[in-house]
Amino acid sequence: MILYKDNHTVVIQSSLFQTNSTVIETEDFILAADPCWLPEEVEYIRRYTDEKKGDKPFYLLFTHSDYDHIIGYKAFPNAKVIGGANMIGNTEKEAILEQIREFDDSYYLKRNYEIAYPEIDYKVEKNKQTLKLGKYTLTFYIANGHTNDGIFTLIEPLGIWIAGDYLSDIEFPYIYSSSTDYEKTLEIAEKIVKQHRIQLLIPGHGSATGDSKEIEKRIRESKDYITKTRQLMTENKELETYSVLDHYPFPRIMKKFHEGNINLLKKEMGI
Ligand SMILES: [Zn+2]
Repeated sequence: MILYKDNHTVVIQSSLFQTNSTVIETEDFILAADPCWLPEEVEYIRRYTDEKKGDKPFYLLFTHSDYDHIIGYKAFPNAKVIGGANMIGNTEKEAILEQIREFDDSYYLKRNYEIAYPEIDYKVEKNKQTLKLGKYTLTFYIANGHTNDGIFTLIEPLGIWIAGDYLSDIEFPYIYSSSTDYEKTLEIAEKIVKQHRIQLLIPGHGSATGDSKEIEKRIRESKDYITKTRQLMTENKELETYSVLDHYPFPRIMKKFHEGNINLLKKEMGI
């Protein structure tokens, strides 16, 4: 499903978990971010980029290493791969690949490409790292907390912000690695809003938006979720934290993610 399209950008949303794949097409390069999930969906993106790329440099960007985001990697064998430096040292590589195999087995899915963990050609190591591609500039930020290997990517002057699994309108923060890192990432998000002219924020799941009020709201709601959950837990009111699920659209599955957050916070807080 095409979620959004303009002259340079197409956001293709998977039927699964409203996961977004992005293709950016300019006169200087083609870039595909997190091409995913189902075989037909990946094939659609592969064909789309094949049609558009000509002899332009072709980049594949991974926002983080979660299996749903890297599942399409080997369908794009000639791309230069951009990703966070921490993706390289990820100790869970084999477990991530096993999640893909498990998923494909569960639904009898066959793919016309190999399942593999991305080899990163261009690694993002620090905030404000830039990559010049013709008259375009990619600016990267470290975005940890959801996982420990995430990145934000700003593409200017287009004003595109590829955010990975942050700032979704359909998910509260899913904190797999660290709640304090997650908060740091949200602080970076606040700075990005001030320092860059954002035309389109593309989260990993849910709706893309160019509305600055909406972006600020998403940042605020993510911060509030973490602060309030932590606060209620210090007051021994864990059950009350579940009321957050009333505001989100898929409470049955999301309850599991909230539980995961609670368990991680408990570890962090030593309770
Ligand atoms: Zn993720």
